[in-house]
Amino acid sequence: MLQISNLQLSLDENPQSLEPLIMKKLRLRPGRLTSWKIVKESLDARKKPLRFVYTVLAETPDEAQILKKKLPHVSAAEPYIYQPPRPLTHGKERPVVVGFGPCGMFAALLLAEAGLRPIVLERGADVDQRVKDVEAYWQGGPLNPQSNVQFGEGGAGTFSDGKLTTRVKDVRIVKVTDELIEAGADPEIGYQAHPHIGTDRLRQIVKNIRLKIQRLGGEVRFNTPMTGIFTDADGICAIQAGDQRIACRQLVLALGHSARDTFTMLHEANVAMEAKDFAVGVRVEHPQKLIDQNQYKEAAGHPRLKSAEYRLTCQTQEGRGVYSFCMCPGGTVVASASEDEAIVTNGMSEYARDQANANSALLVQVRRSDFGEGVLDGMRYQQELEHQAWILGDRCGKAPCQRIADYLAARPSCDYGTVIPSYSRGVTMTDLHSLFSPSINRALAEALLYFDQKIPGFIETDALMTGVETRSSSPVRILRDESFQSLTTPGLYPAGEGAGYAGGIVSAAIDGLRVGEQILRDQESTGTGR
Ligand code: FAD
Repeated sequence: MLQISNLQLSLDENPQSLEPLIMKKLRLRPGRLTSWKIVKESLDARKKPLRFVYTVLAETPDEAQILKKKLPHVSAAEPYIYQPPRPLTHGKERPVVVGFGPCGMFAALLLAEAGLRPIVLERGADVDQRVKDVEAYWQGGPLNPQSNVQFGEGGAGTFSDGKLTTRVKDVRIVKVTDELIEAGADPEIGYQAHPHIGTDRLRQIVKNIRLKIQRLGGEVRFNTPMTGIFTDADGICAIQAGDQRIACRQLVLALGHSARDTFTMLHEANVAMEAKDFAVGVRVEHPQKLIDQNQYKEAAGHPRLKSAEYRLTCQTQEGRGVYSFCMCPGGTVVASASEDEAIVTNGMSEYARDQANANSALLVQVRRSDFGEGVLDGMRYQQELEHQAWILGDRCGKAPCQRIADYLAARPSCDYGTVIPSYSRGVTMTDLHSLFSPSINRALAEALLYFDQKIPGFIETDALMTGVETRSSSPVRILRDESFQSLTTPGLYPAGEGAGYAGGIVSAAIDGLRVGEQILRDQESTGTGR
């Protein structure tokens, strides 16, 4: 197979126009191109006019002769195929997976594929019930502390933009992408440079993956929080889930970053953990048109161009990192709390990304000097900020909000203008300075001015900031060794975002696969679940 890169098409050309380009590049005679497929599509917006740039894999009987010619941008390639672990010859104890977000889901899938019939415990509801609970909360109803944007089938990413970008370089990405496509995602996620699924499609996809796990003999118990662990001389031996005690020798902890009660329980059970740095901030909203025009210039609005994204970073004079995070083009700011009397913002888009506003978190790095030295101090700091945001929002579930221009001028906002806040529970226009320490406020202000140089209009009069954004990563790390097991508790496999080993849907899924593979290796080598 041949890989051909740097094939360029204009915005008005259809991807089918790649075929004559491939023929030309390989200097092939008619009829000699057996097959071809796109493996990467990106948009080059640096030069005008904008162009799509493709990498393709092609098959031809003339491959050997072509390679001898050493043509530019042409090389030999083998498509990566994920090799599922061999079925176990012995062992076969049922592992337990706690948490059914991307990490737990992919760990469970792998274990089910290997015939281990994993038992999955998820504190939240199945996705159909969860959608009802979340919609009710977004319309102003009460929060269900067990079934919300953070907890339930599919984990934290179910109500999201479903961005699949990751900085992790790992061949398992192909397995993750292939499973998502098999479960209903658009095959374009397999080759786009910035793939995304959209919350509307993700909801069915997570359900389809669960059905596959169940078909393979796995068991998924919803509304079942793990509340305790039991150990013996060999390590983990059982867990408590409500009034059930479930025996297990291998336990995947795929808790996500919001399982505060579980972090506390594990800390009290002397499972080795440490505090880790994270980031806090606000969600900013701009007209999507402003972002499109900045990125695409005169091509903005072209039907082949999707709503534009941005990624901004800044190192402030005081040495704090400030960056945009989880940018949602054409999306909405969503109420994402998992506790009462707390306001948490996050962002979400549907597949079409066709809403009027672009939103993104603007986050400032925080360290132990901001929140304390104790293992759970970062978690308590998040809780405190979320409660303060609830107070600032008038104690009624509205989110505190301010125009960016007013924030920079240190005056409270009284109303919003042409940018309509998308937070569906409503906002209270106020001054956000009181949420943060002076040092964090200085960092945010400095970064906003810098970002305005990158995207002129970023601090324009009507752009908004809504608080508070606290759940971008875990405030703790549950320590594990090279065998992926807890430093203190053999048989316990901390994994994914909550344990501090992933950030985002894809990297959490990859970590789930890695831990699943390790469990298979461990069962194969010992002949049991230990
Ligand atoms: P989670 O997805 O958090 O899953 C953990 C699960 O464990 C939860 O379902 C929880 O209910 C369950 N659980 C916790 N404690 C217990 C217990 N004691 N017993 C039983 N079950 C328990 N990332 C992206 O890559 N792209 C995006 O576009 C994106 N957008 C996002 C939008 C929103 C609104 C949110 C909230 C997050 C978004 N993220 C996005 C982040 C992404 O969702 C997470 O990085 C990812 O879900 C982490 O996966 P995980 O499996 O490690 O944890």
